[in-house]
Amino acid sequence: MSFLRGIIDSFSSILNEETKHDPNVSSSSSSSGSMNGIDGVPVSNERVAYKLKGYFDLGKEEIAKGVRAEEWGLHDDALLHYRNAQRIMNEASSTPSPSYISLSEKEKVRSYREKISKWQNQVSERLQALGKRTGVGMSENKKTVASPSSASVSSTASRYRRTPSQKTPVPRGGIATARNTKDAAANPKPVKESGNVHDDKLVEMINTTIVDRSPSVQWDDVAGLDGAKQALLEMVILPAKRRDLFTGLRRPARGLLLFGPPGNGKTMLAKAVASESQATFFNVSASSLTSKWVGEAEKLVKALFQVAISRQPSVIFMDEIDSIMSTRSISENEASRRLKSEFLIQFDGVTSNPDDLVIVIGATNKPQELDDAVLRRLVKRIYVPLPDSKVRTLLFKIKLKSQPHSLSGSDIDKIVRETEGYSGSDLQALCEEAAMMPIRELGADILTIQANKVRPLRYDDFRKSMAVIRPSLSKSKWEELERWNSEFGSN
Ligand code: ATP
Ligand code: MG
Repeated sequence: MSFLRGIIDSFSSILNEETKHDPNVSSSSSSSGSMNGIDGVPVSNERVAYKLKGYFDLGKEEIAKGVRAEEWGLHDDALLHYRNAQRIMNEASSTPSPSYISLSEKEKVRSYREKISKWQNQVSERLQALGKRTGVGMSENKKTVASPSSASVSSTASRYRRTPSQKTPVPRGGIATARNTKDAAANPKPVKESGNVHDDKLVEMINTTIVDRSPSVQWDDVAGLDGAKQALLEMVILPAKRRDLFTGLRRPARGLLLFGPPGNGKTMLAKAVASESQATFFNVSASSLTSKWVGEAEKLVKALFQVAISRQPSVIFMDEIDSIMSTRSISENEASRRLKSEFLIQFDGVTSNPDDLVIVIGATNKPQELDDAVLRRLVKRIYVPLPDSKVRTLLFKIKLKSQPHSLSGSDIDKIVRETEGYSGSDLQALCEEAAMMPIRELGADILTIQANKVRPLRYDDFRKSMAVIRPSLSKSKWEELERWNSEFGSN
């Protein structure tokens, strides 16, 4: 895994640097004066650097074991080794400097102390990441974080994270959300609290670009899709309203995949969730992640989850999720690999913490291209199929609600029969085309006629429109999705 490689590399680069700087640190270092050693044995002043090197070697061993354990997915073992390493580093950093020391030795000790602090930061970071994954040791890890200068976005996490005892999310900065859009628009607050320009910039990106500011779809606008609606009700809407009821065995699943042929209401459903639920809704379009945030995407994902945690209950909606979370390939670039790893780490973080209610919803019409690791985490997979005759009937009724028409029940039944194989968006296009028919007949009168004098729609308008608007989906693609559903889908 490349991110682990990164850790190993950064650890070993510190080590290499260390030995490069101190080629002559050895047990034969000169001695003068005394101080307390590791076991209370007096140690000469001039041997402090040697002692620090001993700590380094011990720490290095533990870190190497920790990294290896992480590579093998043994997170508990990794935690154990990193904690050992941290204890050793803490001990090293608390070793007092002698009052009388030669100039060269002083320089060596100073450089060791600097490196110890670097190591402590790195180990703390890994402990925090693993703590989030395994859901243990968070408070312990935080207590032992030695330096305030650890990774900038990690510090954002603690700033934004809510403690379980806080009942309501504490509003931070001006993060506009589906829930507070109006307030935010009326009273925009600048994101300015950390003084860390980098973090604030990321949060602002989330604020201005990712958060959906205008969800307008209502639950009843979506025809059919009862299975998907029920899943969303149980995963998002009800738990957000009654967090007390949805604990323990009723703890909602945190990952949902909506998949199915194009144009059948996946995005529409997600928009309805945004407007109907009390959850904060983050609308992450995959294309915006990959195009606008080149190089920044993984940091953005990290910050996104952190803001989502602070504003929970939250929904992170990733449309076209296949375009960033597709199967890893050899030709895949490093940035995309890092982005995926970051997503998995962050997602594991929120799923392992029982106090977090952050739901990830992905939508795709190419589920077979999704990375296995991502798929595993999206435990509920709801198929959003082409509308059957019942759903088409409902859909026509919804679309014709605001349109004067003279269609009888049997006219609608006829249209429903004739539109087998049409997707939801094909049906939308068909209705729009039919609605234009009476207008086209008007000729020059269009400029003077009163709106209520335009003739109502009739069956013939739909029949003619069907010659123009044809089903857009090829049957083979649709069948492929049906097969995938029967193998991997939840319904
Ligand atoms: P894609 O896979 O291409 O992203 P999608 O499944 O997300 O497609 P939507 O964008 O949700 O499709 O739907 C496109 C349009 O089709 C909607 O704006 C709506 O007008 C109409 N539509 C699709 N499904 C439904 C439905 N179940 N009820 C009402 N309208 C629908
Ligand atoms: Mg869509």
